[in-house]
Amino acid sequence: MPQQQNKICLIGTPWAEMESQFLTLGLTTLQARQTWDWVYRQGVLSFLSMTTLPLPVRHRLEAMYSLERLSVQQERVSNDGTRKWLFSLPNEANQCDSLASEMSIETVCIPEERRITACLSSQVGCALQCHFCRTGTMPLQQNLTTHALVAQVLHIKDVFQDWPQYRKTRRLTHIVFMGMGEPLLNYAAVREALTLLMDPHGLAFSRHRITVSTSGIVPVLASLARDCRVPLALSLHAPSDVLRSQLMPINEVYPLKDLMQAVRLYPRQSGTVRVTMEYVLLKGVNDRPAEARELRALLRGLPVKVNLLTFNPWAGAPFDPSSEEATLAFAQILAQGGIDCFRRRARGQDILAACGQLRAGTAQMTC
Ligand code: SF4
Repeated sequence: MPQQQNKICLIGTPWAEMESQFLTLGLTTLQARQTWDWVYRQGVLSFLSMTTLPLPVRHRLEAMYSLERLSVQQERVSNDGTRKWLFSLPNEANQCDSLASEMSIETVCIPEERRITACLSSQVGCALQCHFCRTGTMPLQQNLTTHALVAQVLHIKDVFQDWPQYRKTRRLTHIVFMGMGEPLLNYAAVREALTLLMDPHGLAFSRHRITVSTSGIVPVLASLARDCRVPLALSLHAPSDVLRSQLMPINEVYPLKDLMQAVRLYPRQSGTVRVTMEYVLLKGVNDRPAEARELRALLRGLPVKVNLLTFNPWAGAPFDPSSEEATLAFAQILAQGGIDCFRRRARGQDILAACGQLRAGTAQMTC
């Protein structure tokens, strides 16, 4: 349990641990359950508001525990409605002595007509150095705690007043782990956060509305399927080992043969329908008809769909976005092979919404 201002932070604490603490304090399971309800179903920010608990219990909890969210360092709102926050993190588990005093992460929220999607970060920086990704230029500094993972969701619910007392119709409907970091390299905390997000007595997100995106950490995929049973997105971005290793060095460790075998198994292991293949189109690099045909052959017979993403360029990026014509031609070749293929527009380009861009433009990296 993380500590904040000498109080124990309750957000992100697993149910069993919280119940055990309450029992140790001489409180009851019912009182633990009521507190859990106030925190995750009602979204209250103070124990004093928990009116189903006796007043002395409320004061006692208020003195011991915190319900603090993350502190907002910066907020930006795009012309298309996309919102992005840069959060400062408490320096709980620094893994580098020479770090700047500040740790920060980004969270993006994408409102669309019928859904609102939160895009969560799972690490500060990333060790995997995918060459098209701004976060990949930042060293890994810290794994996020379960508190920081869940607090990103609570913040968005606070902003949209997505709690029963406000009776708003706009609700946070979907969660994707596609922000800064590789979620499967912070698996213990991500698994705990997923358990909390899907808890029917708490936030109660359907597992079908949460997607974990990975660059392909093959040994963890079966655990994710078995433990969490959530849909998977795979950052593929290239149809061959040679090209993928150039774009994503992790491919040297887990090559396409192993990855595709894991993808074949994942839906059956997890009770999901298919895996989403994320493919960012980079002009003249992976967007030509030859790569489209190679991709079509690679994915033939696999339970997948393909999302074609528009590259969101950042200062100094070594790539350009594909042209409209190249994108359409690419999509057509996949469709001719019977592969379901969707185009994803870049969102929030005016606010540096792609992974790592806002933080990179703000933070002083000294690690
Ligand atoms: S794409 Fe994902 S795994 Fe690759 S560097 Fe960026 S954050 Fe890390």
